[in-house]
Amino acid sequence: MADQLQVIRGMHDILPAEMPAWNRLEDEYRILAESYGYRQIRTPIVEKTALFARSIGAVTDIVEKEMYSFEDRNGDSLSLRPENTASVVRACLQAGLLQDQQQRLWYCGPMFRHERPQKGRYRQFHQFGAEAFGIASADIEAELILLAARFWKRLGLDDIALQINSLGSSACRQQFRSILVEYFRDHHTELDEDSERRLETNPLRILDSKNPEMQDLIEAAPTLQDSLGAESLDHFNELRDILDQTGVSYQVNQRLVRGLDYYCHTVFEWVTETLGAQGTVCAGGRYDGLVEQLGGKANFAAGFSMGCERLISMLIDQGQSPPEAGCDVYLVNRGVNSAAVAQSLAETIRELMPRLELVVHAGAGSFKSQMRKADKSGARIALILGESELTAGTVAVKFLRQEKAQAEFSQAEIVTQLASLLN
Ligand code: ATP
Ligand code: MG
Repeated sequence: MADQLQVIRGMHDILPAEMPAWNRLEDEYRILAESYGYRQIRTPIVEKTALFARSIGAVTDIVEKEMYSFEDRNGDSLSLRPENTASVVRACLQAGLLQDQQQRLWYCGPMFRHERPQKGRYRQFHQFGAEAFGIASADIEAELILLAARFWKRLGLDDIALQINSLGSSACRQQFRSILVEYFRDHHTELDEDSERRLETNPLRILDSKNPEMQDLIEAAPTLQDSLGAESLDHFNELRDILDQTGVSYQVNQRLVRGLDYYCHTVFEWVTETLGAQGTVCAGGRYDGLVEQLGGKANFAAGFSMGCERLISMLIDQGQSPPEAGCDVYLVNRGVNSAAVAQSLAETIRELMPRLELVVHAGAGSFKSQMRKADKSGARIALILGESELTAGTVAVKFLRQEKAQAEFSQAEIVTQLASLLN
């Protein structure tokens, strides 16, 4: 026998039993985002590699070692998207959506990163996100945070805490960069290989290192706060003020720098301790430089993205994932010409009750085995077309979850009676 093919390492099938949780998550997010005035956008899963190199930054983990890049048949370098923000900006620029107007957008979909698979970290994973363009003030970061906070509330998830920080303007970052380089140069014997390389290319990223052996050194490093100018402080204080007045609790975490290159001013993360090592469920901030970096007119931008698998895992752990729902009605049919009568009756019912979940038994079989399937289907009612019903032009109704006597209706009648029988 041929080897059975397996799913790619780090990627997962979402099986029917898990779909109710996914559908709930997706429905809630769509309704929520739209209720805040965000409109959906979908971009292709594959983009030119240059888009990500130019936006995320050539010396980030993502671009250096996590991207699924390949040459297509024309010899162009393409990549599976590792995140969606760059694509959204590209799409907006291409369609002229950022010209003299604000935009509030949301997205959802799969992302791809060649990371070491572990709980909460996969090679194909899903993100929901929101992006707002054309707004300079910190009220938009506050809105994004409030949206996420409401999402946790709707999902019934507590235990997700907000951390915020300010990276300041690019001038502040520049100044901080030289202070940081000086500090790490003084301690260069304690740097790991990655950090040594970053010292030249992207020293801020050293602060984001996950290497435990680097943590003491990072802990003692100078903080960005001392480099923030008046304008940066004002922006940060405006955000804090709105969060205070709307009752969102947060912690200022001066070590929060975020992995992507394009952030400035506000950065934030929603973190939980219930998921073990992979505790960040949502991350975002302001990224004013990105639109111009991708060839547009300089523009303001802020957004976040959240990891769906981590949220699903919280929903399941906390008993908040809905059970798999069965169908409403199972139509049993047996006898000469019963399949045609069954299909025809079902079509009449479907015409009238478009939301009803009605399964018509297919593939013949004994009455007993059909009833067993009806029971397993989760249906509340079995409609039965047997020899005698076929002759009489009737259909029998059997209640599968209630102590109620079997009933019989004419085939014309059942179409209008079914709704009340299901109540
Ligand atoms: P981390 O520090 O966990 O690697 P990140 O900074 O790379 O996260 P972002 O690029 O900001 O993450 O992505 C936003 C969110 O998407 C994360 O907070 C996380 O919830 C989720 N996420 C990121 N990478 C993965 C992955 N490989 N598998 C599952 N979820 C992920
Ligand atoms: Mg990462």
